[in-house]
Amino acid sequence: MNLVLTVDERESLLSLLTDQQRTFILEHVKRGKKTTFANEMAKDKGLVLPSEASIEDIEMLLDEWVLEDYIDNGFINSETPCECGRPLRHQYIVKHKSTNEIRRFGITHFEEHTGIPAEIVSAIKKGFSAIDYEMDDLLSKIKRNWSLNDTKLFIPDGFTFPKEIRNHLDNQVPLLDRHIQHLRKLVSQFRDERESIKQDVPEVKKEFNWDFDSPMEDDQVSFEFDLFEEKEAQSPTTESLPINNLSGPIKDKILQYLRTVSSTRVICELLIKNHIVANQRYITGKPKIYPYVCFFLEGLVSQGELYLEDINGHEDRFYKLFK
Ligand SMILES: [Zn+2]
Repeated sequence: MNLVLTVDERESLLSLLTDQQRTFILEHVKRGKKTTFANEMAKDKGLVLPSEASIEDIEMLLDEWVLEDYIDNGFINSETPCECGRPLRHQYIVKHKSTNEIRRFGITHFEEHTGIPAEIVSAIKKGFSAIDYEMDDLLSKIKRNWSLNDTKLFIPDGFTFPKEIRNHLDNQVPLLDRHIQHLRKLVSQFRDERESIKQDVPEVKKEFNWDFDSPMEDDQVSFEFDLFEEKEAQSPTTESLPINNLSGPIKDKILQYLRTVSSTRVICELLIKNHIVANQRYITGKPKIYPYVCFFLEGLVSQGELYLEDINGHEDRFYKLFK
């Protein structure tokens, strides 16, 4: 795990990529840095962010500095100086969401030119290094012709890849180790749920002769088991779901957030941040309101108001309004 490429190695590997791969990887670095920045700023405010939420969704939670852009010139360029005038190769541009103030700086003057506290700056810098490491990891994997088969993972029929992983594969870019671990967990959850459904309702299966390998049936059934999984262990059934538990004003707020946010987890964080619901969480950090919001949104799906765009296992569900 201690591979870090030299500047020359990195440049030469980047030059061997297809345009599609290079664009994807450079965009991955930029988005990764924006996400790291937003995550650390949000963490400082006591917010808990789901993995895989988009940067646009996460930034909805922030009122102060966001990383607007990150420029890599490939050489030290006087056109992209630090606030103090020093020419830079890598320029970071941050924007204050409330005042619209813009600051441009190099990583070494980060703290001086933003006024962000030292411990947050240091966490952000550490996160940036991890993203640079991820790029090296991707480039090294491409060099050795990595393929999904290298993971030795057997992907069952009916399994849906989460969006981020699908994007990597669609762009002929390898998966990162964290993707592979995540994928392993999702595949095993998928199998366990299939097994538990088969065992829990044998009489139904016998009577109607359902095809339990059909992904559609599976999704519908497992959805109900998923959401309340983290509730108290003695209530595993879904018979008395408080589907209409959310008050009108909460529902209105959710609908308002849905115009710009697709992550259900981010919607929950916005409800908490704006004091619309109490800050109650499971031990995992997931807001307790989450399953109720999901049920409300699923109701809107069945009414044809919105559609489910993506699922990240038990972590998050992404919805979009029909335009
Ligand atoms: Zn400076």
